[in-house]
Amino acid sequence: MRRLDQLLANLGYCSRREAREWIRAGRVTVAGKIEKDFGAKADATAVRVDGEPLDHPDGLLLLLHKPVGLVCSHDEREGPNVYSLLPPRWRARNPLVTSIGRLDKDTSGLLLLTDQSDLVHRLTSPKHKVPKVYHATLATDLPAGLRELFAAGTLVLPDESTPCAPAQLDVLGPRAAALTLTEGRYHQVRRMFGSQGAEVLTLHRTRFGHLDLGDLPAGHWRELPLGEFARE
Ligand code: URA
Repeated sequence: MRRLDQLLANLGYCSRREAREWIRAGRVTVAGKIEKDFGAKADATAVRVDGEPLDHPDGLLLLLHKPVGLVCSHDEREGPNVYSLLPPRWRARNPLVTSIGRLDKDTSGLLLLTDQSDLVHRLTSPKHKVPKVYHATLATDLPAGLRELFAAGTLVLPDESTPCAPAQLDVLGPRAAALTLTEGRYHQVRRMFGSQGAEVLTLHRTRFGHLDLGDLPAGHWRELPLGEFARE
């Protein structure tokens, strides 16, 4: 049960002050009856605004095909972000819709977005070791022995002290490979290849855990049930 004015504001409908006006104006019903007390507590599923059920009152979990050129930060100073692709009401939610881990500006592919902070923590925790698959194209031919090096779990990146966890490299061509990581260090894929003198030209994430990007076009998303990761 949540306070009506807070509920509407947190779901991104309007400010708390505007919510109080909407409620006083009789635009909000609870279980079919107009409720003019903005402090009344209600079960979100019983609330209607102008006759419409509330927009995802229990939370949002989205699978987005991130295009290159957008950042995952909410800080506008860092440039256009992935949240600009979402409807304004979702962007105004509290807690904020945020990415589960990040892809850099120049990386495309599967990105999960949610307002469920427990899910963010769980799926980005190193303990969970969620496998993520990245397709990379390189400026030069794949160095010899890279598959064994990445698999060994002994590669220490510049300025780091702990080795990267074992990672699986599948060769897709002389200058193309898929890399499966179970951790998420800063620019990890680019730095792993870069440490061996292989510059990454394009990077695209195709999988996150059991989820596949499929043929979802860039800039589009699909909704996932909130319980999608209940078993992971
Ligand atoms: N590794 C990178 O280098 N960039 C990403 O966006 C994700 C993994």
